[in-house]
Amino acid sequence: MSISNPSLTLPLENGGKVVANYVGRFAPSPTGPLHFGSLITAVASYCEAKSHGGSWLVRIEDTDIPRIYPGSEEHILRCLDAFALHSDVPILFQRDCLDYYDHILEQLALQDQIYACQCTRKMLGSNHIYQGTCRNLALPFQDQALRVKVSDLNICFEDPIQGTHCSRLDQDLGDFVLKRRDGIINYQLAVVVDDERQGITHVVRGADLLDNTARQIWLGMLLGYRRLAYMHLPLAMNANGQKLSKQNLAHALDPNNAPRLLQQAIQALHQAPVDLDHPEVMLRQAVSQWNAEAIPKNTMLSGHYL
Ligand code: GLU
Repeated sequence: MSISNPSLTLPLENGGKVVANYVGRFAPSPTGPLHFGSLITAVASYCEAKSHGGSWLVRIEDTDIPRIYPGSEEHILRCLDAFALHSDVPILFQRDCLDYYDHILEQLALQDQIYACQCTRKMLGSNHIYQGTCRNLALPFQDQALRVKVSDLNICFEDPIQGTHCSRLDQDLGDFVLKRRDGIINYQLAVVVDDERQGITHVVRGADLLDNTARQIWLGMLLGYRRLAYMHLPLAMNANGQKLSKQNLAHALDPNNAPRLLQQAIQALHQAPVDLDHPEVMLRQAVSQWNAEAIPKNTMLSGHYL
Protein backbone atom coordinates (compact mmCIF):
# COMPACT_ATOMS: atom_id res chain seq x y z
CA MET A 1 0.00 0.00 0.00
CA SER A 2 1.42 3.36 -0.94
CA ILE A 3 1.80 6.22 1.55
CA SER A 4 -0.05 8.50 -0.88
CA ASN A 5 -3.21 6.43 -0.55
CA PRO A 6 -5.56 8.82 1.34
CA SER A 7 -7.40 5.91 2.93
CA LEU A 8 -4.28 4.48 4.58
CA THR A 9 -4.73 4.63 8.35
CA LEU A 10 -2.24 3.85 11.08
CA PRO A 11 -2.87 3.54 14.83
CA LEU A 12 -2.07 6.61 16.96
CA GLU A 13 -0.92 6.75 20.59
CA ASN A 14 -4.12 8.39 21.83
CA GLY A 15 -6.19 5.58 20.33
CA GLY A 16 -7.08 7.67 17.28
CA LYS A 17 -6.02 6.99 13.73
CA VAL A 18 -3.38 8.65 11.59
CA VAL A 19 -4.87 9.23 8.16
CA ALA A 20 -2.03 9.52 5.70
CA ASN A 21 -2.09 12.98 4.13
CA TYR A 22 -5.00 14.31 6.22
CA VAL A 23 -5.21 18.04 5.45
CA GLY A 24 -7.85 20.08 7.23
CA ARG A 25 -8.61 23.78 7.14
CA PHE A 26 -10.43 26.73 8.67
CA ALA A 27 -11.71 29.16 6.05
CA PRO A 28 -13.35 32.21 7.60
CA SER A 29 -14.81 35.07 5.58
CA PRO A 30 -13.87 38.50 6.97
CA THR A 31 -17.51 39.63 6.98
CA GLY A 32 -17.40 40.25 10.71
CA PRO A 33 -15.15 39.68 13.71
CA LEU A 34 -14.50 36.15 14.93
CA HIS A 35 -17.24 35.03 17.35
CA PHE A 36 -17.77 32.00 19.56
CA GLY A 37 -19.45 30.01 16.74
CA SER A 38 -16.40 30.45 14.49
CA LEU A 39 -14.11 29.50 17.39
CA ILE A 40 -15.95 26.18 17.70
CA THR A 41 -15.34 25.50 14.00
CA ALA A 42 -11.70 26.51 14.21
CA VAL A 43 -11.06 24.34 17.29
CA ALA A 44 -12.94 21.30 15.94
CA SER A 45 -11.25 21.41 12.52
CA TYR A 46 -7.86 21.84 14.20
CA CYS A 47 -8.34 18.99 16.69
CA GLU A 48 -9.75 16.66 14.01
CA ALA A 49 -6.74 17.31 11.77
CA LYS A 50 -4.12 17.04 14.51
CA SER A 51 -5.66 13.97 16.15
CA HIS A 52 -5.36 12.24 12.76
CA GLY A 53 -1.70 13.24 12.52
CA GLY A 54 -2.65 15.71 9.80
CA SER A 55 -1.90 19.30 8.95
CA TRP A 56 -4.26 22.25 9.31
CA LEU A 57 -4.32 25.46 7.41
CA VAL A 58 -6.09 28.80 7.44
CA ARG A 59 -7.57 30.43 4.36
CA ILE A 60 -9.22 33.85 4.27
CA GLU A 61 -12.26 33.76 1.98
CA ASP A 62 -12.51 37.37 0.93
CA THR A 63 -13.85 37.35 -2.62
CA ASP A 64 -17.13 39.03 -1.63
CA ILE A 65 -15.63 42.50 -1.33
CA PRO A 66 -18.88 44.41 -0.61
CA ARG A 67 -19.50 42.19 2.43
CA ILE A 68 -16.04 42.61 3.95
CA TYR A 69 -16.34 44.22 7.37
CA PRO A 70 -13.53 46.69 8.03
CA GLY A 71 -11.03 45.43 10.57
CA SER A 72 -12.47 41.92 10.73
CA GLU A 73 -9.59 40.25 8.92
CA GLU A 74 -7.15 41.75 11.43
CA HIS A 75 -9.38 40.61 14.28
CA ILE A 76 -9.60 37.04 12.92
CA LEU A 77 -5.83 36.80 12.51
CA ARG A 78 -5.14 38.33 15.93
CA CYS A 79 -7.54 35.88 17.57
CA LEU A 80 -6.13 32.82 15.80
CA ASP A 81 -2.72 33.86 17.00
CA ALA A 82 -3.93 34.38 20.58
CA PHE A 83 -5.64 30.97 20.54
CA ALA A 84 -2.42 29.34 19.24
CA LEU A 85 -4.34 28.16 16.17
CA HIS A 86 -1.40 28.45 13.80
CA SER A 87 -1.68 27.54 10.13
CA ASP A 88 0.86 24.93 9.01
CA VAL A 89 1.37 26.74 5.70
CA PRO A 90 1.26 30.46 4.88
CA ILE A 91 -2.30 31.79 4.94
CA LEU A 92 -3.98 31.93 1.53
CA PHE A 93 -6.04 35.03 0.74
CA GLN A 94 -8.57 34.42 -1.99
CA ARG A 95 -8.33 38.02 -3.16
CA ASP A 96 -4.90 37.06 -4.53
CA CYS A 97 -6.35 34.26 -6.64
CA LEU A 98 -8.98 36.02 -8.78
CA ASP A 99 -7.18 35.30 -12.08
CA TYR A 100 -7.05 31.63 -11.20
CA TYR A 101 -10.82 31.46 -10.60
CA ASP A 102 -11.36 33.12 -13.99
CA HIS A 103 -9.11 30.52 -15.54
CA ILE A 104 -11.28 27.76 -14.03
CA LEU A 105 -14.39 29.51 -15.36
CA GLU A 106 -12.84 29.45 -18.84
CA GLN A 107 -12.26 25.73 -18.42
CA LEU A 108 -15.93 25.21 -17.46
CA ALA A 109 -17.02 27.36 -20.42
CA LEU A 110 -14.98 25.18 -22.79
CA GLN A 111 -16.71 22.15 -21.28
CA ASP A 112 -20.07 23.93 -21.94
CA GLN A 113 -20.89 23.62 -18.23
CA ILE A 114 -21.67 27.31 -17.54
CA TYR A 115 -23.89 29.93 -19.13
CA ALA A 116 -24.63 33.62 -18.73
CA CYS A 117 -27.77 34.50 -16.81
CA GLN A 118 -29.56 37.85 -16.89
CA CYS A 119 -32.23 37.00 -14.31
CA THR A 120 -32.28 39.50 -11.50
CA ARG A 121 -33.10 38.71 -7.89
CA LYS A 122 -36.42 40.49 -8.47
CA MET A 123 -37.24 38.29 -11.47
CA LEU A 124 -36.52 35.16 -9.43
CA GLY A 125 -38.81 36.35 -6.63
CA SER A 126 -39.34 33.80 -3.88
CA ASN A 127 -38.35 30.94 -6.19
CA HIS A 128 -35.20 29.63 -4.54
CA ILE A 129 -34.49 26.89 -7.08
CA TYR A 130 -33.44 28.35 -10.41
CA GLN A 131 -35.69 27.12 -13.20
CA GLY A 132 -33.04 27.36 -15.94
CA THR A 133 -34.66 30.32 -17.73
CA CYS A 134 -31.38 31.46 -19.35
CA ARG A 135 -29.82 28.02 -19.82
CA ASN A 136 -30.41 27.80 -23.57
CA LEU A 137 -30.33 31.50 -24.47
CA ALA A 138 -26.58 31.52 -25.26
CA LEU A 139 -26.23 35.06 -23.88
CA PRO A 140 -22.78 36.68 -24.08
CA PHE A 141 -20.79 36.29 -20.84
CA GLN A 142 -19.90 39.98 -20.63
CA ASP A 143 -21.45 41.71 -17.57
CA GLN A 144 -23.78 38.81 -16.74
CA ALA A 145 -23.89 36.35 -13.89
CA LEU A 146 -22.45 32.94 -14.76
CA ARG A 147 -24.30 29.81 -13.68
CA VAL A 148 -23.16 26.21 -13.71
CA LYS A 149 -25.53 23.59 -15.08
CA VAL A 150 -26.58 20.79 -12.77
CA SER A 151 -27.89 17.40 -13.82
CA ASP A 152 -30.56 15.16 -12.32
CA LEU A 153 -27.95 13.37 -10.21
CA ASN A 154 -28.74 12.53 -6.59
CA ILE A 155 -25.60 13.37 -4.61
CA CYS A 156 -25.14 11.71 -1.22
CA PHE A 157 -22.35 12.00 1.32
CA GLU A 158 -21.74 10.43 4.71
CA ASP A 159 -21.30 12.93 7.51
CA PRO A 160 -20.08 11.48 10.83
CA ILE A 161 -22.28 13.95 12.74
CA GLN A 162 -25.24 14.59 10.41
CA GLY A 163 -25.51 11.09 8.93
CA THR A 164 -26.24 10.46 5.26
CA HIS A 165 -27.15 13.64 3.41
CA CYS A 166 -28.58 13.53 -0.12
CA SER A 167 -29.68 16.21 -2.59
CA ARG A 168 -31.16 15.79 -6.06
CA LEU A 169 -29.25 18.51 -7.88
CA ASP A 170 -31.95 19.70 -10.29
CA GLN A 171 -34.91 19.42 -7.92
CA ASP A 172 -33.34 20.53 -4.63
CA LEU A 173 -30.69 23.03 -5.77
CA GLY A 174 -30.89 24.07 -9.43
CA ASP A 175 -28.19 25.71 -11.59
CA PHE A 176 -26.17 27.98 -9.31
CA VAL A 177 -24.11 31.15 -9.69
CA LEU A 178 -20.30 30.96 -9.85
CA LYS A 179 -19.63 34.56 -10.80
CA ARG A 180 -21.99 37.42 -10.08
CA ARG A 181 -22.99 40.14 -12.50
CA ASP A 182 -20.80 42.59 -10.53
CA GLY A 183 -17.80 40.35 -11.23
CA ILE A 184 -17.57 38.89 -7.71
CA ILE A 185 -16.46 35.26 -7.65
CA ASN A 186 -18.99 33.24 -5.67
CA TYR A 187 -17.96 31.34 -2.57
CA GLN A 188 -19.03 28.01 -4.19
CA LEU A 189 -16.39 28.28 -6.88
CA ALA A 190 -13.55 29.67 -4.78
CA VAL A 191 -13.98 27.12 -1.98
CA VAL A 192 -13.94 24.12 -4.35
CA VAL A 193 -10.95 25.36 -6.34
CA ASP A 194 -8.91 26.16 -3.23
CA ASP A 195 -9.76 22.99 -1.35
CA GLU A 196 -8.40 21.10 -4.35
CA ARG A 197 -5.23 23.06 -4.93
CA GLN A 198 -4.40 23.25 -1.23
CA GLY A 199 -4.71 19.47 -1.02
CA ILE A 200 -7.55 19.53 1.53
CA THR A 201 -8.83 16.04 2.31
CA HIS A 202 -11.31 16.76 5.16
CA VAL A 203 -13.71 19.67 5.60
CA VAL A 204 -15.00 20.41 9.11
CA ARG A 205 -17.41 23.36 9.23
CA GLY A 206 -20.77 24.55 10.55
CA ALA A 207 -24.05 22.81 9.71
CA ASP A 208 -25.26 26.09 8.17
CA LEU A 209 -23.19 25.10 5.13
CA LEU A 210 -24.71 21.61 4.83
CA ASP A 211 -26.86 22.49 1.80
CA ASN A 212 -23.86 23.80 -0.09
CA THR A 213 -21.98 20.53 0.07
CA ALA A 214 -23.79 18.76 -2.78
CA ARG A 215 -23.18 21.82 -4.99
CA GLN A 216 -19.49 21.72 -4.13
CA ILE A 217 -19.21 17.96 -4.72
CA TRP A 218 -20.87 18.47 -8.13
CA LEU A 219 -18.50 21.27 -9.08
CA GLY A 220 -15.56 19.14 -8.00
CA MET A 221 -16.86 16.31 -10.20
CA LEU A 222 -17.10 18.61 -13.24
CA LEU A 223 -13.52 19.73 -12.67
CA GLY A 224 -12.21 16.19 -12.10
CA TYR A 225 -11.19 16.92 -8.49
CA ARG A 226 -10.74 14.41 -5.66
CA ARG A 227 -13.77 13.82 -3.43
CA LEU A 228 -13.42 15.26 0.10
CA ALA A 229 -14.74 14.02 3.44
CA TYR A 230 -17.20 16.36 5.22
CA MET A 231 -18.16 16.87 8.85
CA HIS A 232 -20.78 19.52 9.70
CA LEU A 233 -20.76 20.76 13.28
CA PRO A 234 -23.84 21.71 15.28
CA LEU A 235 -24.25 25.48 15.51
CA ALA A 236 -23.94 27.59 18.64
CA MET A 237 -27.14 29.57 19.22
CA ASN A 238 -27.88 32.77 21.10
CA ALA A 239 -30.59 33.16 23.75
CA ASN A 240 -33.16 33.88 20.99
CA GLY A 241 -32.46 30.59 19.26
CA GLN A 242 -30.59 32.26 16.37
CA LYS A 243 -27.25 31.00 15.14
CA LEU A 244 -24.34 33.15 16.24
CA SER A 245 -23.39 35.49 13.41
CA LYS A 246 -22.42 39.09 13.04
CA GLN A 247 -25.97 39.80 11.77
CA ASN A 248 -27.20 38.75 15.21
CA LEU A 249 -24.54 40.89 16.82
CA ALA A 250 -22.61 37.91 18.16
CA HIS A 251 -19.88 39.17 20.46
CA ALA A 252 -16.45 39.56 18.96
CA LEU A 253 -14.02 37.22 20.74
CA ASP A 254 -11.66 38.90 23.13
CA PRO A 255 -8.14 37.63 22.36
CA ASN A 256 -7.11 38.57 25.91
CA ASN A 257 -9.54 35.98 27.24
CA ALA A 258 -8.29 33.17 24.97
CA PRO A 259 -7.72 30.41 27.58
CA ARG A 260 -11.20 30.65 29.09
CA LEU A 261 -12.92 30.92 25.69
CA LEU A 262 -10.94 27.94 24.44
CA GLN A 263 -12.06 25.95 27.44
CA GLN A 264 -15.69 26.88 26.75
CA ALA A 265 -15.43 25.95 23.05
CA ILE A 266 -14.00 22.54 23.93
CA GLN A 267 -16.79 22.04 26.47
CA ALA A 268 -19.46 23.10 23.92
CA LEU A 269 -18.17 20.30 21.68
CA HIS A 270 -18.76 17.83 24.58
CA GLN A 271 -15.07 16.98 24.86
CA ALA A 272 -13.21 16.03 28.04
CA PRO A 273 -12.33 19.24 29.94
CA VAL A 274 -8.90 20.82 29.52
CA ASP A 275 -6.99 22.68 32.22
CA LEU A 276 -6.64 26.45 32.00
CA ASP A 277 -3.16 27.14 30.71
CA HIS A 278 -1.42 28.74 27.76
CA PRO A 279 -3.63 28.05 24.68
CA GLU A 280 -0.85 26.04 23.05
CA VAL A 281 -0.77 23.65 26.02
CA MET A 282 -4.58 23.53 26.16
CA LEU A 283 -4.82 22.64 22.47
CA ARG A 284 -2.26 19.88 22.93
CA GLN A 285 -4.39 18.42 25.71
CA ALA A 286 -7.57 18.84 23.65
CA VAL A 287 -6.00 17.01 20.70
CA SER A 288 -4.79 14.14 22.89
CA GLN A 289 -8.32 13.74 24.36
CA TRP A 290 -10.21 14.49 21.13
CA ASN A 291 -13.22 12.29 20.46
CA ALA A 292 -15.30 13.42 17.47
CA GLU A 293 -17.97 10.86 18.34
CA ALA A 294 -18.83 12.87 21.47
CA ILE A 295 -19.87 15.92 19.41
CA PRO A 296 -23.68 16.23 19.70
CA LYS A 297 -25.40 14.65 16.70
CA ASN A 298 -27.70 17.43 15.61
CA THR A 299 -27.57 20.76 13.82
CA MET A 300 -27.74 22.94 16.95
CA LEU A 301 -25.83 22.90 20.22
CA SER A 302 -27.99 23.05 23.29
CA GLY A 303 -27.12 25.99 25.53
CA HIS A 304 -26.88 29.67 24.74
CA TYR A 305 -23.76 31.52 23.75
CA LEU A 306 -22.91 35.16 23.25
N1 GLU B 1 -15.94 31.11 4.32
C1 GLU B 1 -17.08 30.40 4.81
C2 GLU B 1 -17.65 31.12 6.01
O1 GLU B 1 -16.96 31.90 6.66
C3 GLU B 1 -16.77 28.98 5.25
C4 GLU B 1 -16.35 28.15 4.12
C5 GLU B 1 -16.21 26.67 4.42
O2 GLU B 1 -15.82 26.31 5.53
O3 GLU B 1 -16.44 25.91 3.51
O4 GLU B 1 -18.81 30.91 6.31
